[in-house]
Amino acid sequence: MKPDPPTNTAAPARFLDYDKSLACIHCGLCLSSCPTYLETGNENDSPRGRIYLMRAVQDGRLALGQTAVRHVDLCLGCRACEAVCPSGVQYGELLESTRDHIERHHERSPWQQFLRRWLIEKVFPYPERMDLALMPARWVKQFGMERLLPTFARDALSLIPDETTSAPLPAMVKAGGESRGRVGFVSGCVMSVMFAETNASTMRLIHRAGFDVVTPPGQGCCGALFAHGGNLEEARAAARRNIAVFEQAQVDTIVINAAGCGSMLKEYGHLLRDDPAWAERARRFSSKVRDLTEWLAAVGEPIVRGTNCSAKVTYHDACHLAHAQPIEKAPRTLVRAVAGETFVELPESNVCCGSAGSYNLTEPEMAARLQQRKTDNILKTGAKTVVTTNPGCLLQMRAGLKKSGAHDVEVVHIADYLDREARRANDD
Ligand code: SF4
Ligand code: SF4
Repeated sequence: MKPDPPTNTAAPARFLDYDKSLACIHCGLCLSSCPTYLETGNENDSPRGRIYLMRAVQDGRLALGQTAVRHVDLCLGCRACEAVCPSGVQYGELLESTRDHIERHHERSPWQQFLRRWLIEKVFPYPERMDLALMPARWVKQFGMERLLPTFARDALSLIPDETTSAPLPAMVKAGGESRGRVGFVSGCVMSVMFAETNASTMRLIHRAGFDVVTPPGQGCCGALFAHGGNLEEARAAARRNIAVFEQAQVDTIVINAAGCGSMLKEYGHLLRDDPAWAERARRFSSKVRDLTEWLAAVGEPIVRGTNCSAKVTYHDACHLAHAQPIEKAPRTLVRAVAGETFVELPESNVCCGSAGSYNLTEPEMAARLQQRKTDNILKTGAKTVVTTNPGCLLQMRAGLKKSGAHDVEVVHIADYLDREARRANDD
């Protein structure tokens, strides 16, 4: 790594909300919640250290070189720090604006450029492109050729499910009897390509609760992949498109089953706050967004009942549900309703599994360390089912358990878990 010059003579254009950064009172209460600090023990890899680095760059006391970029890159954006901060520091916002500044002014290596600007921004947000891009990976898996690949490619491949289902969802499903309302469903990019069955489970859950389900075909990426990668302009463009599409659909509520996307959708109001033509529309849109778990808990429909299954079940908190939204109780209530006495808490449930959107591609080493930490914790519980709420966490934990040889532990999305158990209960 090239050493940075000791000082920067000219302060960069203002990118940081400085007052918000000053809210940090350096108490250090966030340190023990920060996964990267837990792993490295380096203050620069803690929230407090990163805020200090951001401010130093903004002040012109530190060049935007490898040191600052490295420690900001290593941040998972999990926002565990925000959840415990007594001073209310809005770390996620500080991080996004710093990342936007880095992407505009820092030169990345060709490999990082390829990952960030091409694969993550030009392929992942577009279901048809992702479907095409996954084809070679599916062939490699189908013909058992993984062992011919170099380690980094094998690790990346291990994140892709053995079987991916992608099928278009019906634009409208009417409630069986008298409708309790009209729910818009966000089908997601990764979800619609890799987890079409989970989307179908979600629709069944909403439908079974007595609501019409509308899945507008014109919807696109929520923008999280852009925002987390430091491309706020593209994130805003994605937000405008989705707002317009869901306005046309005239829905009362907008339900999403992917925690990372849900957190982004709830932030449209903030993302477009300085755009007079869209600010109010964005606020209105965000106010309608509900994670599937909070929505199911709120509508209070007894759609699942306990089964007699004796195997232990545990729950992993997706960062963008537990910290960013913050929703911890609703999913546990739903899982406990089914699992009953077999539910066990997962140690460090709210510590990131290392997936963090596209982090496991851009920072594979730290992602693997956190994956191993999560796997060890899951194995300690003795659970045979791990329930969670985000596609990235599902893939990351499945790959980790597979690597450890724990083939008898399943990781399932909460929609699939609830739908499966409700159907079993109805069959009994
Ligand atoms: S808990 Fe909040 S105020 Fe304390 S060091 Fe961390 S970010 Fe700063
Ligand atoms: S977002 Fe997560 S990884 Fe980043 S500083 Fe906060 S707790 Fe640490």
